[in-house]
Amino acid sequence: MDLSCPILELPNIGQQRAKKLNGMGIFTVEDLLTHFPREYDDRSHVCKIKDLVLNEENTFIACAKGEGETIRIKNMTFTRVKLYDETGSVFAVWYNQIYMKKAFIEKTEYLFKGKLQKKYGKLEVSSPEYEKADIAMNKIVPIYPSVNGLSQKIWRKMIGDVIYRTKGQLKECLPHWLRKQYLICERNFAIENIHFPETQQNFFLARRRLVFEEFFLLQLGLLLMKQTLQQGKKGIILQKQYVISEFEKKFPFTMTNAQKNVILEIEKDMIEGKVMNRLVQGDVGSGKTAVAMTIAYWTIQNGYQVALMVPTEVLAEQHYQYFCEMFEHLGIKTVLLSGSLTAKQKKEVLQQIASGEANMILGTHAVIQKDVVFSKLALVITDEQHRFGVRQRGALSEKGENPHVLVMTATPIPRTLALILYGDLDISIIDELPPNRKKIDTIAVTPSYRERIYHFIKKHADMGLQTYIICPMIEENEKMEVQSVLSYTESLQQNQLKEYRVVCVHGKMKSKQKQEIMQSFSNGEIDVLVSTTVIEVGINVPNAVIMLIENAERFGLAQLHQLRGRVGRGSEKSYCILINEGKNKIAKQRMNVMQKSSDGFVISEMDLQLRGPGEFFGTKQHGLPELKIGNLYKDMAILKEAQSAAEEMLQKDRHLELAIHEDMKQKVTALWQNEQLSI
Ligand code: ADP
Ligand code: MG
Repeated sequence: MDLSCPILELPNIGQQRAKKLNGMGIFTVEDLLTHFPREYDDRSHVCKIKDLVLNEENTFIACAKGEGETIRIKNMTFTRVKLYDETGSVFAVWYNQIYMKKAFIEKTEYLFKGKLQKKYGKLEVSSPEYEKADIAMNKIVPIYPSVNGLSQKIWRKMIGDVIYRTKGQLKECLPHWLRKQYLICERNFAIENIHFPETQQNFFLARRRLVFEEFFLLQLGLLLMKQTLQQGKKGIILQKQYVISEFEKKFPFTMTNAQKNVILEIEKDMIEGKVMNRLVQGDVGSGKTAVAMTIAYWTIQNGYQVALMVPTEVLAEQHYQYFCEMFEHLGIKTVLLSGSLTAKQKKEVLQQIASGEANMILGTHAVIQKDVVFSKLALVITDEQHRFGVRQRGALSEKGENPHVLVMTATPIPRTLALILYGDLDISIIDELPPNRKKIDTIAVTPSYRERIYHFIKKHADMGLQTYIICPMIEENEKMEVQSVLSYTESLQQNQLKEYRVVCVHGKMKSKQKQEIMQSFSNGEIDVLVSTTVIEVGINVPNAVIMLIENAERFGLAQLHQLRGRVGRGSEKSYCILINEGKNKIAKQRMNVMQKSSDGFVISEMDLQLRGPGEFFGTKQHGLPELKIGNLYKDMAILKEAQSAAEEMLQKDRHLELAIHEDMKQKVTALWQNEQLSI
């Protein structure tokens, strides 16, 4: 039987059923075979009738006492059958299924599974599933994701049947050498045993195989895409490496070893003649800006332009000041493409970019707008990339002749995951913070502490130290969000912090106004800055020492970590205070993680564990094929193996030209049919 055969051709699938299955995305025999169980019935937990638990699903073995009886109430028919074992008896009740009356053979044991409920004062098991005990016992029974009208029994029958018909006919796509090396069982065995495992051991082998295969196909596809990106494209070759170490001396600190290593990795890419596509991951405060600036300097000294793109105007402005300060006296012209430029100013800046007079170009999305034409663009840097879509990155790199691309992110994720989510990029990690960083004290409190916290803020303001207060974002409604920030600020200005300089900043303000506020906060002219998450990324004001976050339970851990990273940047002791109104266990656990850890990698991993990969990454945000069986978090160990296996296969056979890889080639092409794979 052909795997691509439509399900309608199977004997026990008619029009009706086929329609339902189609609705679930099942069209072919293969789709049916890969409709994996959602869970398994654990029949080792069979109980006696006297131990049935009210309002829960129970699995028990019993016999039926005589024929059942049928009762009619209005237009409903109830069929009651008395079940018994050596410990007692209970009624099972089915609705509108008169045939249940005669469904059981006397003195024969059946396995029942159903919910025990109390109805009209009587205990009954409602519509239990059942199966003859001699067949059902000692089996691990699959439970399938289903839709209305398709019972588990039907599923088991349909899938059992299709397995029987295709027995031994599934093509093995993983080559023998790979299965041997990674201890991967054969495909037919895996499919059979994922549905109807005879033993636990078989189940584990089967699942391991299928998860491995799924991850392998994903990773192999990404690697093949990356090869396509690189092949045939000549990268701009940079020289004068000596200027790198010269420039490093201009910072008031020495680079950490981690920073130096990452600079070396980038340097290597850019002298080799390939087009760099590199992701730099580093925790908040690990010094990514200095790395970016050094590489930008080198590129400019080679006679090229560099563009740096950031997610917010506030951050663009801050970077602009820093770059000007470092570059101006070195004869480098830095320009800012900001939303607050007048038409005339903008025209002038665009002119400078087009003529090549401007060497270093900073901005938000404005940088990738159509009207921006570069003269000699060689490097594009995007900072805090988690806010940028992949497509935006692409648009920017189209602006030069294959410019190098450097992506910097402060949402560190485990390397295995980065390899999947940024599969088209090489990865560098700054895994060390500059020395002498002070630990930020993190405290999670209930709202009842608010007054005391304001007092704490005042005390610090009296010493000339500043505070950030973050109000929660209200996602559905930007207007309401602005309202809530405004009224919060007003209340502080009129009451608790009357004698202090309290100002608010929010996303709906004109960028010029935002910048002015940030500037005066930076100059120390504001004591308390109330904000939404506008200041989440990148902002650097060393004199700010308190970060107060309202409704902390509404933020992701990685985001809280980012916000916390805004303090602890100077010589004074810093604090992060989380006001938690969340009462559930997970909210508390998450606050706990924040108090205990200051390592961004650990935090994002915990976040991933607590929220699950779906929520952590945003659904389908990365355009990856859907996973049918693997779980990016729980199966990370298998993911790792699949990744090294995929790399190994391409080392042996770069474009999958060997006959032993033919089946894999077909599979991976089918999965990634809309992508450019270098095969
Ligand atoms: P991030 O990686 O979060 O973007 P930044 O680049 O903003 O971090 O750097 C955070 C702070 O650390 C800045 O004030 C920067 O000047 C300082 N810094 C960067 N590198 C070092 C270093 N090697 N030693 C000491 N301070 C450093
Ligand atoms: Mg930064």
